[in-house]
Amino acid sequence: MPTPAPVLIVGSMALDSVKTPAGEVKDTLGGAADYSGVAASFFAPVQLVGVVGDDFPPEHLEFLRSRGIDLAGVQTVAGGKTFRWAGYYDFDLNVAHTLDTQLNVFADFQPVLPDAYKRAEYVFLANIDPALQLQVLSQVEHPRLTVCDTMNFWIEGKRDALLEVLKRVDIAFMNDAEARQLTGQLSVIKAAKALQALGPKTVIIKKGEHGALLFSGDTHFAAPSYPLEDITDPTGAGDSFAGGFIGYVAAQGDTSAATLKKAVVYGSVLASFNVEGFSLNRLRTLTQADIDSRYRAFQEIAHFEDMSLI
Ligand code: AMP
Repeated sequence: MPTPAPVLIVGSMALDSVKTPAGEVKDTLGGAADYSGVAASFFAPVQLVGVVGDDFPPEHLEFLRSRGIDLAGVQTVAGGKTFRWAGYYDFDLNVAHTLDTQLNVFADFQPVLPDAYKRAEYVFLANIDPALQLQVLSQVEHPRLTVCDTMNFWIEGKRDALLEVLKRVDIAFMNDAEARQLTGQLSVIKAAKALQALGPKTVIIKKGEHGALLFSGDTHFAAPSYPLEDITDPTGAGDSFAGGFIGYVAAQGDTSAATLKKAVVYGSVLASFNVEGFSLNRLRTLTQADIDSRYRAFQEIAHFEDMSLI
């Protein structure tokens, strides 16, 4: 199989402090670009765009490089502080409660794409200021598939820029609460349709431990979630889902509805592994064989016979 086209990803690179019913971690590797970049790297080469301060431990950059991730688009600001997020989860692990968001070096970040990145075919605008997502998008020359994600922080604080991003992307990811918040629709189905009316042909609604829904044109696909008995840390589930999704699409080199459906399942597979450990720890030891066997498990969960065969 030929080497897949790279996936260009911009998003937060973070040091996270997270508390869940399973425990607590401080200043650990996190960020939407890191989770989605590592997840995508299981399928395709990744080009990362982001910024860190000189307090970002070099071993984190080393880990990203060890996954084959190109860091030419990552700036390190001397004397700057890395983006930090602190949050906690109660027993409803689908709801992240933010305690603190410090943009730090992201506040003044001006992304400049290396020339090789400008030719990217697959672009994932992971969660970060939508104004930065737009700056990256406008530097990419002929993208084949553009995908974006966001969160309540930006829906509340940067709504106009976010609406501009939505006008310009092919696919938007959002969790159910964010889709309702942005569109004012209580029904997830109506919210997805309202999002499609804002621009993206395809909308993927993440429902945490209840799976994901894909709306594409008039078609609709529901992927289950994996029945994990123990969830350690839901942080990064959405990002690893999106990274697995776009990485798989890039590896197939095709954006047909059939590929997008399988990509939703691969996204769910990556997310289900990610939540088994704090930070990116579970992804560090993940193998292709693990991914393949959980994909088959997803197939079994969702399979049922045609009525005529019963
Ligand atoms: P999720 O996949 O939605 O669980 O995303 C978790 C990641 O989002 C964490 O690792 C945080 O560092 C990052 N994050 C939290 N708040 C923001 C924000 N306002 N902008 C960008 N990234 C964020």
